[in-house]
Amino acid sequence: MKTRTFTIIKPDAVAGGYTGKILDMILADGFTIRAMKMTFMNRNDAARFYAVHRGKPFFEALSTYMTSGAIVVALLEGEDAVDSLRRLVGATDPRNADEGTIRRMFGTDLTRNAIHASDCAENAEKEWKQFFDEKEIVEVDYSPCSFE
Ligand code: ATP
Ligand code: MG
Repeated sequence: MKTRTFTIIKPDAVAGGYTGKILDMILADGFTIRAMKMTFMNRNDAARFYAVHRGKPFFEALSTYMTSGAIVVALLEGEDAVDSLRRLVGATDPRNADEGTIRRMFGTDLTRNAIHASDCAENAEKEWKQFFDEKEIVEVDYSPCSFE
């Protein structure tokens, strides 16, 4: 069944020039982009987004990292979207991520791991609503054949 998930190409990956390559991997995996933009997080945004990690030892470093530069956020649709994207993204620590995953290819360390992928459908929806208004979500079929 087609479902939705949310992703963030994180500041290290955007600054490193990997946005196109990462989006290519996501599209090649069969996802459709339903909304996307380049933006940034301030510390309030990061605190809201990572509320579950508040109080953890790495929270401060995570917040500094996520507010350090531009990010690209996207709402994605695909078969079994949450789990498929988590598979494509790989383990949290890029050094433990499988060969061929986005974090293995573009991540640096446990904090600077290139990309976020929502961990369940409920969180995905909360997360994309933090970045997108309803009118920014493209619901029409825009596959190439629909323009022939
Ligand atoms: P994400 O939520 O970004 O997709 P994840 O679900 O694999 O990653 P989480 O446990 O949700 O991992 O942690 C959120 C983010 O916090 C990680 O992606 C990473 O950037 C950072 N992080 C997590 N654990 C640590 C840690 N022990 N030390 C440093 N940074 C960490
Ligand atoms: Mg997570």
